[in-house]
Amino acid sequence: MKKLVYFAGMSCLIILISCNMNNNGNSNKNADVNEKFASYKETFIDKLWQLNPSFATEEGFHNYDSTIDIPSQEVMQQKLSIYKILQDSLHKFELQKLSDNNKTDFYLIENFFNSSKWYADTFKQWQWDPSGYNVGEGFDLIASRKDIPLNEKLIIISKRLAHVPAYFEAARENISNPTDIHTDLAINQNKGSIDVFNSIADSVKTSTLAGDDKKNLQTNLNNAIAAVNGYITFLTDTVKTDFKKNPPRSFRIGKELYERKFNYDIQSKYTAEEIYKIAEQHKNLLHQQMYELSTKLWSKYMGNAPQPKDSLALVQSVIDKIALNHCKKDSFVATIKRDIPNITKFINDHHLVYMDPKKPLVVRKTPDYMEGGGTGASINAPGPYDKYANTFYNVSPPTHLSDADAESFLREYNYYTLQILSIHEALPGHYVQLMHANMQPSIIKNVFGNTAMVEGWAVYGERMMIENGYGDNAPEMQLMYYKWNLRETLNTILDYSVHCLNMSEGDVMNLLMKEGFQEKTEATNKWKRVRQTQVQLDAYFTGSTEILALREDYKKALGDKYNLYDFNNKFLSYGSVPVKYISQMMMAELKK
Ligand code: ZN
Ligand code: ZN
Repeated sequence: MKKLVYFAGMSCLIILISCNMNNNGNSNKNADVNEKFASYKETFIDKLWQLNPSFATEEGFHNYDSTIDIPSQEVMQQKLSIYKILQDSLHKFELQKLSDNNKTDFYLIENFFNSSKWYADTFKQWQWDPSGYNVGEGFDLIASRKDIPLNEKLIIISKRLAHVPAYFEAARENISNPTDIHTDLAINQNKGSIDVFNSIADSVKTSTLAGDDKKNLQTNLNNAIAAVNGYITFLTDTVKTDFKKNPPRSFRIGKELYERKFNYDIQSKYTAEEIYKIAEQHKNLLHQQMYELSTKLWSKYMGNAPQPKDSLALVQSVIDKIALNHCKKDSFVATIKRDIPNITKFINDHHLVYMDPKKPLVVRKTPDYMEGGGTGASINAPGPYDKYANTFYNVSPPTHLSDADAESFLREYNYYTLQILSIHEALPGHYVQLMHANMQPSIIKNVFGNTAMVEGWAVYGERMMIENGYGDNAPEMQLMYYKWNLRETLNTILDYSVHCLNMSEGDVMNLLMKEGFQEKTEATNKWKRVRQTQVQLDAYFTGSTEILALREDYKKALGDKYNLYDFNNKFLSYGSVPVKYISQMMMAELKK
């Protein structure tokens, strides 16, 4: 394979090598150390954005919008050597002298350096996951900027477009023995990103851009589209054809890589194997609770029909009846829009957690370039640099599905479940958590958000709503909540079993559909997702388990002085850091 040298990477190296930290003073004053640490963080973030312009754009820092980090080996190794210099500087700080807030920033930065190295040298996703190469989101984020005039924006976009051919050339060089599933994902998502280019082309027509600027933009746009199409053709023809001779890499990462990835991504006090075992126990508890509720609901939904001997079959019959209460496929987005104000009111009436009414939440259909992961909804929150930008609640209506598949999907996201989905994604889940996170002055915590804390909070939020009687304490709502919580629990069992215990597709479908009461569409999507991601599915159960344990400890320690509103706001005030660190700080503060 030919080696390519890229201008972008070389220039970064020259800028960055000159960085040296001034933390060699002998002062014992902790205030001084914390001040120095603050300036270290500033330098670190500056370098981070210089080295990772696309990451910067995603976080709302727009100084590097006109360039893209070329994913070549040269650039990657240069990044790692600069990280090494920055990490050595980090280690000069004495952890004990840092404030709690800076301590957690220290841990997060340290984890970033260690995991970056591991991802590059050992995990090597850049080699086997072709879906890692996609420019759609970056261009869409820049195209939707409202802080600069259209012509200025188009000139930035034009410069950025000029890097796209080199970007995909490097991508092609990197790919070696990829997995089948990530190749398919890359093909679909890159096709979706063509839409972004088309809408940029449309906006050129409405602009007053003229002369060379306009000509250059059109040339760069055409070259970029050709590069994306070239990548799609490369994957479809070369890579997929090669699978016939050399079988694709297995999507299962195995126990050893799994524990390491769990360690870097989740940062839990538990190991992956430990949390898997706790999840197995929780599954049994949920089955028992669901059985009790279902026997209570039996006559209401099943009349005089005889009760099945198998308890799982009994629960399934009741769930099937309740699930018939669902919206139509073309009213999916509208139904979610209607639920949001009711959920908001419940949280405020019950004084559960602080919410800032000034921060807008926009419900929208998921843009096409983000489609394909198989999830029903997601949250796109503004980064730390544009705190008051819209938060998007992306929902994927089943309009592209056949009537039969759409019916299955809609039964899964029935009247009750759809509300739990919004509780999870929006309020008091991700939207509220990320809103609190953005109130924090620590940019480190905003940037290196811990997924287990973030997902754990959303899962915990569902439970908190049910505990407080959301849905008029209806047993139907409770049963559907247990089913939902069972899904989050099964996510952990499933992910671990597939990647570490070689669980077969048949066993996966059986676990999800029989023991998890999931509709076929849902189970099929999950089977897809568990092959596309690793460890991410653990975040839900791991995070919520740790938060609930903390709440118990906190309650015990405070006694009569405990209240839920304060606990929640306090917990969220630390930002998206691993729950184990929040626990340490919250409990330590009580002892002061
Ligand atoms: Zn139906
Ligand atoms: Zn979530």
